[in-house]
Amino acid sequence: MRILIVDDDEDDYIILEDLLYDGIGKVGEIVWAKSFDHALELIEQSDFDFYFLDNRLGAKLGLGLIQEIKQRFNIAPPIIMLSGVDDHQTDIAAMEQGADDYLIKSQLTAPLLEHTIRYTIRDKTLEYRLAKLAHYDSLTGLYNRSIFNELLRTSLEQSSRLNQKFALVTLDLDKFKFINDNYGHPAGDQLLTKVATRLKNCIRSSDIVARLGGDEFSLILKDVKHDKDFIKLVENIIGVFDQAFQIANQHISATTSIGIAIFPNDSQTADGLASYSDMAMYQAKSAGRNTFSFYNQKLHEETKVKHQVEVALKAALQANELELFYQPINSLKNGEITSVEALLRWPNSEGGFHNTENFIAIAEESALILDIGIWVFEQACQQLQLWRQQGFNDRRISINVSANQFNSNHFTEIVTGIITKHPELSRSLVFELTERKPLENTTAIINKLNQLSDLGICFSVDDFGIGHSSISYLRAFPMNIIKIDRSITANILISKEDLALCKAIIALGKALDLAVIAEGVETDDIASKLKQLSCPSAQGYLYCRPMPVNELESWLGQHDKKVVSNL
Ligand code: C2E
Ligand code: MG
Ligand code: MG
Repeated sequence: MRILIVDDDEDDYIILEDLLYDGIGKVGEIVWAKSFDHALELIEQSDFDFYFLDNRLGAKLGLGLIQEIKQRFNIAPPIIMLSGVDDHQTDIAAMEQGADDYLIKSQLTAPLLEHTIRYTIRDKTLEYRLAKLAHYDSLTGLYNRSIFNELLRTSLEQSSRLNQKFALVTLDLDKFKFINDNYGHPAGDQLLTKVATRLKNCIRSSDIVARLGGDEFSLILKDVKHDKDFIKLVENIIGVFDQAFQIANQHISATTSIGIAIFPNDSQTADGLASYSDMAMYQAKSAGRNTFSFYNQKLHEETKVKHQVEVALKAALQANELELFYQPINSLKNGEITSVEALLRWPNSEGGFHNTENFIAIAEESALILDIGIWVFEQACQQLQLWRQQGFNDRRISINVSANQFNSNHFTEIVTGIITKHPELSRSLVFELTERKPLENTTAIINKLNQLSDLGICFSVDDFGIGHSSISYLRAFPMNIIKIDRSITANILISKEDLALCKAIIALGKALDLAVIAEGVETDDIASKLKQLSCPSAQGYLYCRPMPVNELESWLGQHDKKVVSNL
């Protein structure tokens, strides 16, 4: 412990020093400041763990040192004022200015000193711990959400007074869940700590960084003159992730998606800035991650429209206004129907339908897709049961399942529940998983897919050939079917590359013993070409458009006759 005693009377200093040694033993170094100015010098040079200040320091008052000490610390160490017996007013003033206690010089004893030191230290430790709990994130030591919100408000007031701009930056690690699942939570925690340290080191001293929870960090970048300067600062932050992180003897690479909202341009309130920088961050995520995005008005409008669509879609689901259309999948070998794909339809007020791809994408950004997914699955099961009652035991339904549906256990549990009750249905179900928004390759997700596959459900990779993970998808997940994306199928007669891709996918299917379906077949010429390439199956407007179940029934009736007569 380092103790500073400020007293201009040497005898008083020596008495205090002796009493301290008697009271607490030689616990550390005691330094004597013999005047106000000497004290100022020592206070500025280094920090002490305990301060004793005599109030009468020649013409100056020891009181004047309290603020000097306090401003050096978030929580200052104990400060004890020393005063004469008749100096009660000063004692009160000292306590008001933040001294922790006062002692009357003539009444000093060793036990009194020991007692005072022990109690003030205990109070301080408690205060320090409480402050740490209330203000700091225990894992990374950065500010936590509650203090960050206060700092954001203060920055707002300060910047508006000084007529300055600042940026609120929201930063979320990409695929942090993958790191947690694959390397374990302790590794995840280490990564967060290392990211925190690098972030702290890359910002200027006037900037603020906090961990808001999970893998989400926020920064306030102050006093930036031009918008383009924000880009430089944000690039520094992205640069934090250039080098892999050394964690438990492994190099783990991580990237981040960053959203930025600027005061006062984007909003003049703390809540507005926070929600806009969040929106911008999600925009960066959907732009493919590992990038940053600035909030702007267009983004705001888009978000508003999305919200409206989400609310209306939720209402439509609850009011049972959604429908399933079905589109047959045809064998190119014998014209048989191998399955029908269920495609969701949401009627609009003009007698048509909302664009399925659009509203599904909006639903996928919220939990709504989970309810929709369960509704689609249950509808398909009901339809299969109805067909079974009518004697059509061979009919299969392919349903589209979004990657998000596997992020919680809910969907898998519902499917397992229904299939356990009706095991006959499992062989009549195919789950189509699109490569456009891929599944995460985590043990938890692989286990869920394997569990469903063990029940007898088939899996198909939808929109194959356009994603980034085509082949690894086939290796990681229990797939049975590949569906060639329609952007490839549509071009096989005009693009050498697409023809080559189509051939390669068919060969891949053959080699891995997977069924292959070409999507989006619209013309006879394309169908003939696919037959020539020995593509096993096809689906598209050429055969028939998606339609309600009653139209499908009559189409199947005619189609069966046609197939039979053609054979
Ligand atoms: P998808 O699974 O690839 O479905 C094929 C899409 O292509 C369907 O669009 C279908 O109507 C359309 N299509 C079929 N034949 C042809 C053709 O010859 N030419 C052209 N140009 N298009 C053809 P739709 O119904 O609008 O669905 C779009 C996407 O929305 C689907 O793509 C699927 O990813 C998603 N989706 C549809 N229903 C559901 C659902 O119930 N759940 C989930 N999660 N996604 C769904
Ligand atoms: Mg599909
Ligand atoms: Mg598709």
